[in-house]
Amino acid sequence: MSVPDRADFVVVGGGTTGCVVAARLSEDPAAQVLLLEAGSGYRSTVDLPGVLDDPYLLPVGPASEHTWTYPVELTPSRRATVSRGRTLGGSGAVNGAYFARATRTDFDLWPDSWSYEKVLPYFRKSETDHDFGGPYHGDNGPIPVRRRQLDDMHPFSSRFHDAALAAGFPEDADKNAPDSNGVGPVPLNISDHRRISTAVGYLLPAMGRRNLTVDVGVTVLRIVFSGTRAVGVDVLDGTALRRIRGRHIVVCSGAVATPLLLLTSGVGSADQLVAHDVPVVVDLPGVGQGFVDHPEVLLPYRYSVPEALRPQTPVLEMALNDADLEIRPYTASFTDLVPGIPQMDHGIGVVLMAPRSRGTVELDPKAPGGSPRIRYNYVDSAHDRRVLRRGIQIAEDLLETIAKTGMIRRPEIEYSDEWIESRLGTSLHMSGSCVMGSEFDPDAVVNDRCSVLGVEALSIVDTSIMPVIPTRGPHATAVMLAERASELVRDAARA
Ligand SMILES: Cc1cc2nc3c(=O)[nH]c(=O)nc-3n(C[C@H](O)[C@H](O)[C@H](O)COP(=O)(O)OP(=O)(O)OC[C@H]3O[C@@H](n4cnc5c(N)ncnc54)[C@H](O)[C@@H]3O)c2cc1C
Repeated sequence: MSVPDRADFVVVGGGTTGCVVAARLSEDPAAQVLLLEAGSGYRSTVDLPGVLDDPYLLPVGPASEHTWTYPVELTPSRRATVSRGRTLGGSGAVNGAYFARATRTDFDLWPDSWSYEKVLPYFRKSETDHDFGGPYHGDNGPIPVRRRQLDDMHPFSSRFHDAALAAGFPEDADKNAPDSNGVGPVPLNISDHRRISTAVGYLLPAMGRRNLTVDVGVTVLRIVFSGTRAVGVDVLDGTALRRIRGRHIVVCSGAVATPLLLLTSGVGSADQLVAHDVPVVVDLPGVGQGFVDHPEVLLPYRYSVPEALRPQTPVLEMALNDADLEIRPYTASFTDLVPGIPQMDHGIGVVLMAPRSRGTVELDPKAPGGSPRIRYNYVDSAHDRRVLRRGIQIAEDLLETIAKTGMIRRPEIEYSDEWIESRLGTSLHMSGSCVMGSEFDPDAVVNDRCSVLGVEALSIVDTSIMPVIPTRGPHATAVMLAERASELVRDAARA
């Protein structure tokens, strides 16, 4: 199918947020919407590749056809590789299907127009919660939400639950309640053993609309400007370069690719752009700064009894949230979850959910026009190191309680700073690299209506604009963000 050469809305990236935005904008039959996705695609659930359908795998290993991989610096001395989804549904099509919202207090750090009361209707609109009703839950939205019952859980999940209650943590039956805290089942976007990404829940039902074109295998290289107005995009379609005109461009490429696309298009710190010979459209120093993710350390253990088989078991079905920490009793080793990675122990994840350290996504002088240089600066802040140690202590105590039941054994480890740094990983929850704020905020890239500052007809709608990273996984909050932003973008385009 050939790509149209113009549209009212050109949506760049068909991931979690892009699928919501394209589906919602195309509800207006008078608006021509073009969704461009660099990765793979499908037109119905029948065509959906099995690894994307299966919610009990993380198909992000080295051989995956559905990911981007980037080398990163977690700390100045610790290198790693991170993955992002590269397919319709994006990272939400390859993720752990844990669908927990940001809490009420998380929104205290967003602009007033994004307070908890203002965003709640969009959380409700996005979901059908099969376990809870009432004022906080939706009953008619595209994403089904369910929690596993304790009796149906993997034995390690239920032992973890009992150990956390015994340690005095509160029961947290509904992690999508506004003030969730404690140990409880994780809300999951799984239905009939299928992962319901936004591609499946939002986009596929809209595919038949005559005013919506979805084109996959098309990489946007650059946003085209006339003065400071965005007027189109240059794309690589197979091996052909093409220009597509748009009345309004909506960038939904995710927290790594979005700042990279802005920078290569001349929107970013003038100093950085000039140093890379990129003509400056607008000097916006916040682009690529403020990058944040959830640092994670896995504490290893081994089974003393034959390990429970895990057919049809979610990666994570139980979690303990204690203020800015999340402790995750994964149901399998990552060797079993991620096809093609080296042998790893089973592990319990200790995750910093409100880290203070900030990183950067910048143009890489060594890869002009290619990959970005991604620096996390993890545990740069003394606060982060302190909280991580507190989390390790909590997880150690819980593992000790579970070990007393005879289910697991724990290796003797001294959790020195060196050991922690050597095991430091990330939850792949990248956010904050083009943050939302006021036009007087020197770090802001978009205003509270998701419009890029200093230019016209350009919006960003993905996790890069989150002013703070949620204290839960970002997927459910990204869907809410895209629901609300679709209305704001439609209004901005009409103005
Ligand atoms: C392995 C993994 C597990 C995770 N597990 C969970 C979890 O269980 N729970 C949770 O809450 N969160 C989880 N996350 C995080 C969550 O899935 C993401 O934060 C969220 O999906 C991001 O949405 P997004 O729309 O911002 O970006 P994405 O969903 O990544 O979408 C960006 C899209 O843009 C496309 N794109 C990029 N550049 C271009 C370009 N130049 N031209 C055209 N297209 C382009 C990409 O191919 C991609 O499809 C996980 C992430 C990963 C990778």
